[in-house]
Amino acid sequence: MTTPASSSLDLGTVLHAVGQVLQNVDPPVPLHTPTFAGNEWGYVKECIDTGWVSSAGAYVTRFEEAIQAYTGAKHAVAVVNGTAALHITLRLAGVQADDEVLAPSLTFVATANAINYCQATPHFVEVNEVTLGVCPQRLADYLGANAERRAGTLHNRHTGKRIAALVCMHAFGHPCDMASLLEVCQRYNLPLVEDAAESLGSFYNNQHTGTLGRLGILSFNGNKIISTGGGGAILTNDDELAATARHITTTAKLPHAWAYVHDQVGYNYRLPNLNAALGVAQMEQLPNLVEQKRRIAQRYLDAFADVEGATILAEPTNARSNYWLNALVLDAKCAAAHADLLQAMHDRQWLVRPIWMPMHRLGMYQHCPRAQLSVTESLAARVVNLPSSAHLAQQIGGA
Ligand SMILES: *Cc1c(COP(=O)(O)O)cnc(C)c1O
Repeated sequence: MTTPASSSLDLGTVLHAVGQVLQNVDPPVPLHTPTFAGNEWGYVKECIDTGWVSSAGAYVTRFEEAIQAYTGAKHAVAVVNGTAALHITLRLAGVQADDEVLAPSLTFVATANAINYCQATPHFVEVNEVTLGVCPQRLADYLGANAERRAGTLHNRHTGKRIAALVCMHAFGHPCDMASLLEVCQRYNLPLVEDAAESLGSFYNNQHTGTLGRLGILSFNGNKIISTGGGGAILTNDDELAATARHITTTAKLPHAWAYVHDQVGYNYRLPNLNAALGVAQMEQLPNLVEQKRRIAQRYLDAFADVEGATILAEPTNARSNYWLNALVLDAKCAAAHADLLQAMHDRQWLVRPIWMPMHRLGMYQHCPRAQLSVTESLAARVVNLPSSAHLAQQIGGA
């Protein structure tokens, strides 16, 4: 006798699998909360005691050095948040008003907003199911059919606009297929900007995410793997880009003992010392946090190993993921169960959430140029992010 192919998910089985992992955790179980288990309080107190709370302060430099040491980036420039970091990296990548910038539609809204801040237009491209990030093969096919080179620059054949850059995003900490993306970018002479907001602690071929493209960014928002309250960083190996990043995020003020002279329109985007103090303490904890996250992921992976119709997203080959947020991906044929599953989990006070609504479905971005986005549309209807706070590692026991 053969078992008929099920077209609907057995909710009970899925709830049981999550329940196995969270059995010792009292509800409500938040999706993600920060862990402050080290020197955070001492360093922040020192800022207040000494009066060094704002942008000029020793912790900013120490934080940048810690990020450089961990990621291997030659330069890290600490800024007020990841969105500001994206805004500046896009400008430094050469994005200008009226350009188009290739980006995934399946991302947090900051990716698209930062393109808009440059008075450019997001041009949405397709992702794949392996990484949830931009699909290099589909990108190559799409550009082959829809873009053309004119005097050394790439243009959208339909709008005539210049395509200035590609932004890729390492979703939930899982690195994109960088070797292939870099190859496509090289072929079309496109700068690659990595939105590594979610992937501090994730490596591709032993290289830290955010350091493989021309520029990358990190976020230290309250829900990321480390938090400075709010914060971000620009990563690059290019000395000149780093110097410009530092300059224009500090109001483009020329260094002088007393004179206020600014040589261009700059931004007040530098990270305050208070936040950097938190960041230095968090960077000391980062290896622990990554290890805890990977233990939690392993528990989810084990619990779902034999569940039909749903899979925990695992790190791609050649990659080591920080597993920032665990993603449960329902099979396409089980997508109809998505809403019921979210409801059933919230009924148990597991504060799970669906993946973002794709950017091309948001009012302000629905008229932007885009590739065929059937994978994006499909995934948007069947991903559930599961509770992934690092401190859960202590409550779920060892596998
Ligand atoms: C968190 C995040 C950002 C930046 O967010 P901020 O809150 O501005 O630090 C950018 N892109 C993605 C994909 C993110 O998840």
